[in-house]
Amino acid sequence: MAYKFVDNYRERGARKKLVELLRSRGIEDENVLAAIGKVPRHFFFDETFWNQAYKDIAFPIGDGQTISQPYTVAYQSELLHIKKGDKVLEIGTGSGYQTCILMELGATVFTIERQENIYNRTIQVLPGMGYRPTFYCGDGSKGIAAHAPYDKIIVTAGAPMVPEILLKQLKIGGILVIPVGDEKTQKMVTVIRVSETDYDKIVLDTFRFVPLVGDQAW
Ligand code: SAM
Repeated sequence: MAYKFVDNYRERGARKKLVELLRSRGIEDENVLAAIGKVPRHFFFDETFWNQAYKDIAFPIGDGQTISQPYTVAYQSELLHIKKGDKVLEIGTGSGYQTCILMELGATVFTIERQENIYNRTIQVLPGMGYRPTFYCGDGSKGIAAHAPYDKIIVTAGAPMVPEILLKQLKIGGILVIPVGDEKTQKMVTVIRVSETDYDKIVLDTFRFVPLVGDQAW
C-alpha cells in the first residue's frame, strides 16, 4: 500500500522546531535528535489532527492507547545507547513511532503489541513508510525468547516491577529501559546486565505511561 500522506515544508519545519524544543528540554544525543528530525510523526495521526503531531504531547491512537510524547521517546532512546546493528526488543509497539526512531538509530527491531487492533494497523503503516521491523502480536511482558539474547530491551508501558524473565533475555553488557511504578506514575529504570548473574539498576525521572498488561505485569 503506497502511503497517502505527504511530508512537505510545513511538517519538516515543525519537526525542526520539535528537535530544538527537545534539545532545550535536555536531550543531548545528536543521533536521537536526528532520528526525531527524520521520522514524519504526522503519519501516525489522522489528517484532522496533523496540527497536534509536532507538539511535545502524547496523543490518543484509539483502543485506549497513546502515541508517546516525543520527549519520552527521545529520553528512552537516549538511555538505550543504540549502536548500529544492535538487536532490540520493543515491548508495546503502539503506533510504531518509537519503532521507527529505533530503526533510524540503526537497530534491528523485534516489536510486540498485545492489542490486535493496534497491531493490525501498525503492521500496515510502518512498511508503507519503509520501516520493516519483525512484528509480533501477544504478551510482551514475557519477552520473546525465540530471538533472545538482545543488546537492548525497551518497554513502552508502565510495569509494576522489572520482569525477571526480561533480564534473562539481555546479553551481558545489554541494557533494559522500563518505566516502573503504580498505574498512575512510574520512574524510568535502566538495568545493565554486567555478568551472568549481576545487574546494575538506575532509577531516573518520573513519567506517566499506560499500563503494561500481561503475565509478568498488571
Ligand atoms: N511508543 C509507542 C508509540 O509511540 O506509539 C507507544 C506505546 S503505548 C504508550 C504502550 C503500548 O503497549 C500500547 O499499545 C499497549 O497496548 C501495549 N502493551 C501493554 N501491555 C503490553 C504487553 N504485555 N505486551 C505488548 N504490548 C503491551
